[in-house]
Amino acid sequence: MDKSTEEAWDALKDLTDPELPFLTLDDLGVIREIKRNDETHVVTISPTYIGCPAISVIEEKIVSELKKLGIAAIIEKSFSPPWSSDWISENGRKKMEEFGISPPHPKDAESFSRSPAKAVKCPQCTSYKTEKVSEFGSTACKSLYRCLDCKEPFDHFKCV
Ligand SMILES: [Zn+2]
Repeated sequence: MDKSTEEAWDALKDLTDPELPFLTLDDLGVIREIKRNDETHVVTISPTYIGCPAISVIEEKIVSELKKLGIAAIIEKSFSPPWSSDWISENGRKKMEEFGISPPHPKDAESFSRSPAKAVKCPQCTSYKTEKVSEFGSTACKSLYRCLDCKEPFDHFKCV
């Protein structure tokens, strides 16, 4: 990896998602590859939830962030394999819980097998007695749930 590509990785991994400003692109696993192609860097990203308007904002952020470093970048989107909520880092999941959002289930993580099947955990009181109120929460990427124990509503990040 040449120096400018390394700089590009460093600069981009700390950019945050516009809809989830406490999560970095690194936490979300959005950036797949940065490749130097002569004077241009090709940044391959995996759009998160299809139809999430945040992706065009993320693209602009990436291009303008690299411009600050004097790096010209173009964005390529990769849909195969499609982005999966499994790619969200452990750290990212922890941050979601801290911010009161129930993180998506890791599809095959060991910890998941110990929790009730497909149950969504309340981020306030950790109860699994929750119910879905609406398919769409504060953004299209989240569903609105309610806890039956502490009665608090909360967002659950959808699993894809
Ligand atoms: Zn609760």
